[in-house]
Amino acid sequence: MRVLVAEDEPALARQLQQALQAAGFAVDVAGDGIDAEYLGRELPFDAVVLDLGLPGKDGLSVLRAWRAAGSAVPVLVLTARGSWQEKVLGIDAGADDYLGKPFQMEELVARLRALVRRSSGLASPVLTLGAVRLDTRSCTLEVEGRPVALTAHEYRVLAYLMHQRGRVVARAELSEHLYAQDADRDSNTLDVFIARLRRKLPPGFIATVRGLGWRIDEAAA
Ligand code: CA
Repeated sequence: MRVLVAEDEPALARQLQQALQAAGFAVDVAGDGIDAEYLGRELPFDAVVLDLGLPGKDGLSVLRAWRAAGSAVPVLVLTARGSWQEKVLGIDAGADDYLGKPFQMEELVARLRALVRRSSGLASPVLTLGAVRLDTRSCTLEVEGRPVALTAHEYRVLAYLMHQRGRVVARAELSEHLYAQDADRDSNTLDVFIARLRRKLPPGFIATVRGLGWRIDEAAA
């Protein structure tokens, strides 16, 4: 899952980046509205944290531009403390959720996880399929009731495929949703992560669709 953080206060942007990375997200940061609009238009984010008070181009204009271009990416807006007017404007401009500054980082992360899973049609933070139980709050996996250790990368791969269950996920798509722009990416390492994950999951849980990509099937699980 890949998130765009559009926030011009460097300290807050860094805190958001660290908290979201710790929660299993790949994070890109934009420090002004021009960059934010560009990145949000060009890259396939699973969610966006958008400060409304951005230099260059304000957050509301950025959000309206994305929605006018047909983007349905879930957006959580950050508003000035106690400004109910900003909340109303944000929601009317197409925001899915909001938080007033200052906020608790845990609350922001929980709200963002909820936006991501709802956009995949999932209701619970625990993604369950057959004997497999992936808890997106703690980034932990259980198979047949037993805890199974995952590395951060393995978690990201499995979380993305579980959110996209039933669909074939192409190599390029998986790579784009696992890594931020500045990350080292080597699409061959995806095969390594998938192979390691398969050893930890029931046989056939992640199917290879030859020439297309990978799929987690509800029927096969
Ligand atoms: Ca600001």
